[in-house]
Parts: sequence; C-alpha cells; structure tokens
Amino acid sequence: MPKKQKSFADKLKKFERSGSVCPVCEQEFVVVKQVKSVPAESGAWKFNQNIIKVCKCNEAEVYAL
Ligand SMILES: [Zn+2]
Repeated sequence: MPKKQKSFADKLKKFERSGSVCPVCEQEFVVVKQVKSVPAESGAWKFNQNIIKVCKCNEAEVYAL
C-alpha cells in the first residue's frame, strides 16, 4: 500500500477546491455577510444578503462600502 503523501501541490489543490485561500495574495479569505436594504417595487424594503469573501485584494473596497 502506498503511503499518502501530502505534497505542497496537493495542499494547494485542496485550498482551491474549498476556496478558502485567495490564489492571488495567498491570504485566507474572511467571509463577510453584507446586508443591504433595497427598495422593493411594492414600496416596502427588502434585504439583499451578500456573502463576500474578503482578502487583501479587496478588503479596502469591501470595508469602504
Ligand atoms: Zn487576494
């Protein structure tokens, strides 16, 4: 039986699959839930929920909102 070896490439693949690490800055994503209230056609307000993955690439953008 061949032993399971975890190479760096394997680990990288795992990260890509889970999407938990940004391939650009190699930082772990922080998942942020953003709730926006938007006017609905009926005149009431509805809430849009956005799940955003934040890393160094977009944190300035996201937290500026
Ligand atoms: Zn990034």
